[in-house]
Amino acid sequence: MARLHPRKLVIAYFLISFLGMIVLMIRYGMNCPDSRSGNEDYRSILAKEESPLKQREEELNKLEKKLRTLDIILRRQFPNAVEYISQVLDDDIPTIYAVTPTHTRHVQKAELTRLSNTFLHVKNFHWIVVEDSVARTPLVTNFLAQTGLKYTHLNIATPSRYKMGENDPHWLKPRGVEQRNLAVDWLRENVNVNTSPGVVYFADDDNTYSLQLFEEMRYTKRVSVWPVGITGGLKFERPIVGDIGKVIGWYAAWRPQRPFAMDMAGFAVNLKLLVDHPTAAFDITVKRGYLESSLLSQLVKMEELEPKADMCTKVLVWHTRTEKPKWKEEDAMIAKGKPSDPRVEV
Ligand code: UDP
Ligand code: MN
Repeated sequence: MARLHPRKLVIAYFLISFLGMIVLMIRYGMNCPDSRSGNEDYRSILAKEESPLKQREEELNKLEKKLRTLDIILRRQFPNAVEYISQVLDDDIPTIYAVTPTHTRHVQKAELTRLSNTFLHVKNFHWIVVEDSVARTPLVTNFLAQTGLKYTHLNIATPSRYKMGENDPHWLKPRGVEQRNLAVDWLRENVNVNTSPGVVYFADDDNTYSLQLFEEMRYTKRVSVWPVGITGGLKFERPIVGDIGKVIGWYAAWRPQRPFAMDMAGFAVNLKLLVDHPTAAFDITVKRGYLESSLLSQLVKMEELEPKADMCTKVLVWHTRTEKPKWKEEDAMIAKGKPSDPRVEV
């Protein structure tokens, strides 16, 4: 047997190590993720995973395009509708329910137009319009449908013995009483105050409202109060606020001894308070000037009132009254048998 020479052993050792390295390199190369075939595998897996995402992206693009078109069309019809809808979706804040009694007369559509133009700027707003009539009229129905506001349209006729005559002075009989009570009942029945908080404001159709007023009243806990401009024969009437920020009386010329000597436009009520007092209502039988007191004395005490508008130092609502239009020539034309075109709604 030939003897193994140590040099041969060293050469054999190097040869085996070298071959081993070559084998390892080849095997590594076959499984390497950078190899060409491996790359293709990964690409196909990625493509498979991406395909539903791509599909969703295309769907989103289409929806976005549709939304843009709808936005344009909606804006053309109702300039404020898009902003309004976005605001309604922001439903974390309490809703303001403005209750407006309204009655048929020459200026009605003009008054409602003025009001709706203001209300369109108010966030989370719901208009309760109550017609003083035996049926809802086409004028108000069509008007409301095109405002872009969230609204409820109701009607109830004032009993004839309380109804204002054409030539009665405006203060002779209570106005809008049954209408406001119906709206409050509707709210009690249709709003769940535990899930959707709300504030009720009695907004007559002829007053003038600043936008700030609605933000002042939005977080009313029970009843909030503020001054009203041009009313009661004064520049303004207002609650008098004492040193500790509580209402202690009334700045009013006319019967300041009334329990709540303020105008309908001067307060707002948390809807929950009305729900918790299910029978509280305006009393149509009370004497002149006591309508506001008739409701409020069932709900709060004077010291519980929440003064707003910088402690009742700012006027944010005006008791404006619209002049009755002169209709003499119109009547003369009717008498001549030449009335104006009845198809034109004014
Ligand atoms: N109103 C009504 N029926 C009437 C008279 C008035 O529903 O017969 C409404 C009116 O549209 C307004 C509110 O009641 O929203 C208060 O009426 P008005 O503005 O004439 O009262 P004033 O400002 O004189 O207190
Ligand atoms: Mn009025």
